[in-house]
Amino acid sequence: MAKMYYENEISKEALAGQTVAIVGYGSQGRAHAMNLKESGFDVVVGLYEGSPSVKRAEADGLKVMSVSDAARAANVVMILVPDERQKKVYDEGIAEHMTAGKSLVFAHGFNIHFGQIVPPADVDVYLIAPKGPGHLVRRVYEEGRGVPALVAIHQDASGKALDKALAYAAGIGAARAGVLETTFKEETETDLFGEQAVLCGGATELVKAGFDTLVEAGYQKEIAYFECLHELKLIVDLLYEGGFENMRFSVSDTAEYGDYMIGKRIINENTRAEMKKVLSEIQNGDFARAWIEENEKGRPIFNKIKAAELEHPIVETGKNLRSMMSWIKQSEVK
Ligand code: NAD
Ligand code: MG
Ligand code: MG
Ligand code: MG
Ligand code: MG
Repeated sequence: MAKMYYENEISKEALAGQTVAIVGYGSQGRAHAMNLKESGFDVVVGLYEGSPSVKRAEADGLKVMSVSDAARAANVVMILVPDERQKKVYDEGIAEHMTAGKSLVFAHGFNIHFGQIVPPADVDVYLIAPKGPGHLVRRVYEEGRGVPALVAIHQDASGKALDKALAYAAGIGAARAGVLETTFKEETETDLFGEQAVLCGGATELVKAGFDTLVEAGYQKEIAYFECLHELKLIVDLLYEGGFENMRFSVSDTAEYGDYMIGKRIINENTRAEMKKVLSEIQNGDFARAWIEENEKGRPIFNKIKAAELEHPIVETGKNLRSMMSWIKQSEVK
């Protein structure tokens, strides 16, 4: 059984009197900074000069400094810039301020696990990874609830790294939902696998393949969009709320029979074998190396595929249909 921690068993004492620097003010950065501040923590935001996020953070009532000044001023430095920029930001603005007794903190283990950032031995290094996008970490906190999070310890110089990590997790609201203990290795590898095979890569290709099959067979694009993309949310809500059995209870027996008979033909032994291969490329570092190299080259492949994906007919079809559903527009995240 995984070790879980909840709010009633966590003391915020381990971080009492400490200043937390949130470096980066994007999806996770804003959520962490605002939630920690409202939970009573002393928070500063570190941004590069001229960052468009400066205005936003200041408008939110936060103290903004350069990355270097924030790292100097803080006891706890949480790095929330994009993973592929963390090494540079750390080397240029943070490393020299990571003096004995401070904490270096991450929301994803990529740079520590793959050896991009190597902190000094006398600082605590830990991870608090919310299992949801930053916008939800903020919205759900405001509603008095929390997005669950993982915590992991890479270095425990003070002997209190876990207490500090749990105090931080409670500060962003995660302990209301549950904080699960893991390792940097497990968090990094499972996060990459999940987004590649199931959540992002798996889901979008499944939707596209279904949409294309219907459209190529002569069905209307709008029908294909509703059937393969829009309705997926309704199904996922049922899965989220009550697992497979809840979804299968709610759908018709015809749908349930189709699920049992056909699902295994779509996600078959080949798909499972490919998933194993994908996982081994994450574990042996091939994926990380390719992504680091892609960034060093200025993202030629990433940019090309991103542009091509925007040309897929599902994009235009979806835009038109969603423009008629005002309630969806409201919650679209920017
Ligand atoms: P993001 O792209 O939303 O935001 C990054 C922010 O970093 C930008 O808004 C900018 O303010 C800042 N920034 C960029 N370059 C900078 C620089 N050179 N110096 C200072 N600031 C700079 O990033 P994100 O999605 O919030 O990801 C941050 C971390 O959180 C990553 O480690 C990511 O893996 C992790 N994480 C993200 C999610 C998610 O759903 N977005 C979930 C869990 C963990
Ligand atoms: Mg991820
Ligand atoms: Mg994830
Ligand atoms: Mg149907
Ligand atoms: Mg049923």
